[in-house]
Amino acid sequence: MSQTIQSNPVAGRRVREEVRNLEKFVAAGYRIVGSHSAVKVCHWTKSALRGGKMCYKSWYGIDSHRCIQMTPSVQYCNMMCVFCWRFHTPNRVEPFGGVWESPSEILDGIIKAQRELLSGFGGNPKVSRERFKEALNPRHIAISLDGEPTLYPHLDGLIKEAARRGMTTFLVTNGTMPESLRKLREGAEPTTIYLSLYGPDRETHIRTNKPLIPDSWERVMQSLEIIREMRCRKIIRLTLVKDYNMHSPEKYADLIRIASPDYVECKGYTHVGESQKRLKRENMPSLEELREFGERLARILGYEKVTEDAVSRVVLLANPESPYFREMRDRVLTVGGTELLHPIQQPAVG
Ligand code: SF4
Repeated sequence: MSQTIQSNPVAGRRVREEVRNLEKFVAAGYRIVGSHSAVKVCHWTKSALRGGKMCYKSWYGIDSHRCIQMTPSVQYCNMMCVFCWRFHTPNRVEPFGGVWESPSEILDGIIKAQRELLSGFGGNPKVSRERFKEALNPRHIAISLDGEPTLYPHLDGLIKEAARRGMTTFLVTNGTMPESLRKLREGAEPTTIYLSLYGPDRETHIRTNKPLIPDSWERVMQSLEIIREMRCRKIIRLTLVKDYNMHSPEKYADLIRIASPDYVECKGYTHVGESQKRLKRENMPSLEELREFGERLARILGYEKVTEDAVSRVVLLANPESPYFREMRDRVLTVGGTELLHPIQQPAVG
C-alpha cells in the first residue's frame, strides 16, 4: 500500500511566527498558551462539573470534569475540512515557522490556563467541592482542540511528559503526518489514538477535506498501516456528512481493516460553528441514518455495534478480537446513559 509521499508537506508555503487574529480566539473562549498552543474548556467539562452528563468518551474511561481540551498547533492544519466547526483563518494556510515551545512548558501552561478558566466554578452552587477540587487536578489531555497536533515536532515528548505526570492522552489526528506517528510508535504512544477518515476513496477524501498538501490521501494510507502496530487503544472515527462522504461502507471497511482498530465511531456531522458557512443543516445525518450505516459497516467488518450516544449522535462499533473488548462492555454497562445495543459475546480466549 505504501506510495510515494512528499518529504516536507509545507514546502513552498509562507510561514508565520505567531497566531494572528488572536482576539477572535480569545472571544471564543480559547486561551492561547505560548506562541502556538491553546486551551478551551469543553462543554462536557462544564456539564460534568455541574453534576450533569459526561461526554461519550466516558466509554473509554474519561472523567470529563478532569479533562483538558488543548492543541499544541493552534490554527496550524494542512486541511480545510468542510465540516470543521473551527475558524479557518489565514493562519491555516501559513504554517507555523516560529520557535516551538518544549513539552513541559506547554503542559505547565495549559494546566495553569485550565485552572484559571475553571476558577469561576468554585462559587457555583451546582458544583460540589469535591468535583471542583478534582477538576483543578486534571487527569486527561484531549489533544484535539484545533489544528493538526502531529505537526508539533515534539508531540512524542508531550505525550511522554503527560504520562510521567500520571495523565492520560487522547490524540486526534487526520493521519497526514505518518512520520510523526512513526515517532510515537517508538515509545511515545498516547493512551488512545483517534485517526479520522474523511472519505472511502481519494476523490471523496479530497472533496470533503480540501487538503493544503498534494499527497494527503497517500499519507493517510501510510498512517493506517502505522497505527496497526500500536498497542494503545486505536479508534477510527468517521465524521459522516450527508451528500458528501456518507456512502460506500464496503470501501470504508477496506481502509479500516488496514489499521485493524479496536473501535470504529460513526459520528454524525453537526451543523455548528464555522461549518454553518460551508454546509447546510440537511447535511446532518440523523441518529437512525447513522445507526443504519453503522450496522452495515459492522456486518461487513465482523464488528459489534455495542452502543450509541444520542446527544453526540455517535454509534460505536467494537472489534471482538480487540484486547479492549471486555473493558468496553463492562464500562458501557456501568456508565449507563448510553444504551448497550447488543449483549456482548465473550471473545474466545486462547
Ligand atoms: S474527551 Fe473531548 S469531549 Fe470529552 S471532556 Fe475531553 S475534550 Fe471534552
